[in-house]
Amino acid sequence: MTKTQKAAAIIGELKDIYPDAFCGLEAGGSPFRLFVMAVLSAQCTDARVNTVAKDLFAALPDAKAFADSKDGELEALIHSVGLFNSKAKNLRAACRMIVDDFGGEIPIEMDDLLKLPGVGRKVANLLRGDIYGLGGIVADTHCIRICGRLGLSGGKDPLETERSLSKIIPLSEQSVFCHRIVRFGRDTCMARNPSCGDCKLKQYCVFKKEADNG
Ligand code: SF4
Repeated sequence: MTKTQKAAAIIGELKDIYPDAFCGLEAGGSPFRLFVMAVLSAQCTDARVNTVAKDLFAALPDAKAFADSKDGELEALIHSVGLFNSKAKNLRAACRMIVDDFGGEIPIEMDDLLKLPGVGRKVANLLRGDIYGLGGIVADTHCIRICGRLGLSGGKDPLETERSLSKIIPLSEQSVFCHRIVRFGRDTCMARNPSCGDCKLKQYCVFKKEADNG
């Protein structure tokens, strides 16, 4: 079985396990909200970001409001997501750029997205995939770990994971694949004590094979 065939089989299994694939960040279809929430989600749970987002967007509804927010206002609103000082600084600067350089819209090109403070390839790929339907591998901690265990990628480095998976997962499948992998990482293939016995992907798993062979 080639890696592409293996990836196709895993994509099929994940579709059966999680027929609905969606992002855990509840942005309500708003590109701007998804952008802000993706920045806030660094080292924070989606559930916490979803909670914080309610008051945050009620107070600051768009990029201009973020860019013009008073010192301390944004910090107070996002205090509970952690790293709030640097996140606030990045969001304020990124929103200023969105207003001044991109007409108030979230840019579409990878190079433009990467100019926004606080946006790395992981967030950029999430935005390109979920907002613009352009695909993109979101190489977060779940994706890196699980695809490494399955032998689809090296299992350590985000850029290597993105590059390896981009070659074997069709563009149209990439975003939903990554959303499903996050759910799989939360309920089955956890970082510690993965539920290998009940795992529907175990026949493909290099990690399990090695563990079984001692
Ligand atoms: S067999 Fe275990 S390590 Fe492999 S994918 Fe399944 S849960 Fe993860």
